[in-house]
Amino acid sequence: MKILVLNCGSSSLKYQLFNAEDESVLAKGLVERIGIEGSKLTHKPTGKDNLVIEQPMKDHEIAVKLVLDALMDDNAGVISDVSEIVAVGHRVVHGGQHYSDSIIVDEEAKKVIKECFDFAPLHNPANLIGVEACEAAMPGVPNVAVFDTAFHGTMPAKAYMYAVPREYYEKYGVRRYGFHGTSHSFVSKKTIEVAGLDKDNSKVVVCHLGNGASISAVVNGKCIDTSMGLTPLEGIIMGTRSGDVDPGVIEFIAGKENKDIRGMIAMLNKESGVYGLSGGISSDFRDLKAAMDNGDEKAIETIEAYTYKVAKYIGSYVAAMNGVDAIVFTAGVGENSPYIRTMICEYLGYLGIKLDEEANAKAMGEEMIITTADSKVKVCTIPTNEELAIVRETVALIK
Ligand code: ADP
Repeated sequence: MKILVLNCGSSSLKYQLFNAEDESVLAKGLVERIGIEGSKLTHKPTGKDNLVIEQPMKDHEIAVKLVLDALMDDNAGVISDVSEIVAVGHRVVHGGQHYSDSIIVDEEAKKVIKECFDFAPLHNPANLIGVEACEAAMPGVPNVAVFDTAFHGTMPAKAYMYAVPREYYEKYGVRRYGFHGTSHSFVSKKTIEVAGLDKDNSKVVVCHLGNGASISAVVNGKCIDTSMGLTPLEGIIMGTRSGDVDPGVIEFIAGKENKDIRGMIAMLNKESGVYGLSGGISSDFRDLKAAMDNGDEKAIETIEAYTYKVAKYIGSYVAAMNGVDAIVFTAGVGENSPYIRTMICEYLGYLGIKLDEEANAKAMGEEMIITTADSKVKVCTIPTNEELAIVRETVALIK
């Protein structure tokens, strides 16, 4: 059973074709610059040579057709007929308050995805275009929407309400939604396995530390709080996003720099985070580490602020859950940066956490427990795999 996973951005499309039986990846690829000059498809079939196609692609429908052609290509192909694809799983960023689970897309679901355009103006329109492009290219093949917000749908009101006039929640749905839900769900489930916890009696903090980053508190497999909010700007310090700031900062800088609200939000999304705080060294933690190792004061201060903030969020979630059994690090930074994990765990000794430095140094992109046997709380590294999670959700729904 072959399942195609699509992640559509406004001008890009990432895909992976899975064999659902053994969860192997048959091919993956990326289409860039859809609708702009220089469109390019890079197709990477497992065990075969890559295929690169450079030709104008005016929209996502054309891009999806070219992806299907690449999947059936004489040399770089991995299937012989499009009918081998039994379903498509789509990453959809925002499901609003309507969905706390994945769904098979029908007209009603499309309406909801559209209603959430305002919440995710860069992503949801592209996600819907991806669904419609697949409907056109593969009529009758089910499209499953896996929402980034869904896993957080179990948060109680006390966690998701903002203390602003209630009418904005009632009129517009202004509340905290959270993101990276597919990753938090996948990784928290794996953590329960790896740490040997009883799912129905478990308290886990998931630290998804990538370019975008968020932390969630998961009790008995269900999310009770997460650090991102109405938009992915809230929470910890990220690559280029500020995370939490006093909203007063916005008015203050806007006044001084003569910026409007759009300019300010763009600055908080794209020029802030570790990139902005370090004075523009980089949003990539490998560059920051190199600068820190060279004694660069700004890099040192940035990494200190970053790890301090993560530790504070973990502490607040331990309080929210009244305890913790396991803390897990995932995504690019979380999986690959032992020094970041060490710096965070240095704040957590009060929980009885004892890091196994040797295991921590070794843990790079693999499932590992990185605490000693007598540590009261287990700390793990688990590689996230959002695409595989989407395949599993898709298979479960179409069965
Ligand atoms: P996203 O999916 O949000 O774009 P990722 O989860 O891929 O982000 O994380 C990207 C970040 O992970 C990079 O900016 C980089 O800082 C960090 N990263 C990736 N690989 C490594 C590595 N080997 N060592 C340290 N940091 C890494």
